[in-house]
Amino acid sequence: MRIDIITVLPELLESPFAHSILKRAQQKGLVEVNVVNLRNYASDNYKSIDDYAFGGGAGMVMKIEPIAACIEELRSQRSYDEVIYMSPDGQLLDQPLANRLSTLGNLIILCGHYKGVDERVREHFITKEISIGNYVLSGGELAAAVLSDSIIRLIPGVISDETSALSDSFQDNLVAPPVYTRPAEFRGWKVPEVLLSGHALKIEEWRYEQAVKRTKERRPDLLK
Ligand code: SAH
Repeated sequence: MRIDIITVLPELLESPFAHSILKRAQQKGLVEVNVVNLRNYASDNYKSIDDYAFGGGAGMVMKIEPIAACIEELRSQRSYDEVIYMSPDGQLLDQPLANRLSTLGNLIILCGHYKGVDERVREHFITKEISIGNYVLSGGELAAAVLSDSIIRLIPGVISDETSALSDSFQDNLVAPPVYTRPAEFRGWKVPEVLLSGHALKIEEWRYEQAVKRTKERRPDLLK
């Protein structure tokens, strides 16, 4: 998979991809993450990528020309399955959406800023709009990093224990059961006996019961 992230703040995207699972996924060649600086596509002398909103009002709007030039150059090099715009009014990111996107080949993710992008970008270049939650961020970069992380960890081979991603919360409409590690007792607080029993079937049953109990308590909406 290849992900091209278009941004005016490439620095914001350095750290999220430079560590841990996302770093290893790139080293293993399972995903290529390419951060594109939108300012390189500005055509005027001031390298401007934003301008005042038609009709007035506070806040700048990202211009269509640099975005069009950038997306068209990327598209001339390869074909893309989706051109995604991070937007608070987009489709809410959830596990089924991450699962679906993880099966695709090439993605473009466009990060907005200020009041967002000129509406014509959304009409003519964007194929999918995604929100990471019902709140407003200052820019699309952190949202793009969240989206990319949720996708990349699902690519086969990225997480060493193949079943691990499948046993995460939401994969089966259940949240994850509680987990414990050593010591088996801390200040008198004990780990549930069954987990120490070595009885694989009983452990699996216990985990499933706990997941169902937790989902009923915390996220009954998932069970509908
Ligand atoms: N005026 C816009 C918000 C712009 S916020 C509105 O009210 O809808 C600036 C940029 O941050 C957006 O263009 C988008 O790319 C990004 N952004 C903000 N909140 C987001 C969210 N919840 N999910 C995804 N992207 C978000």
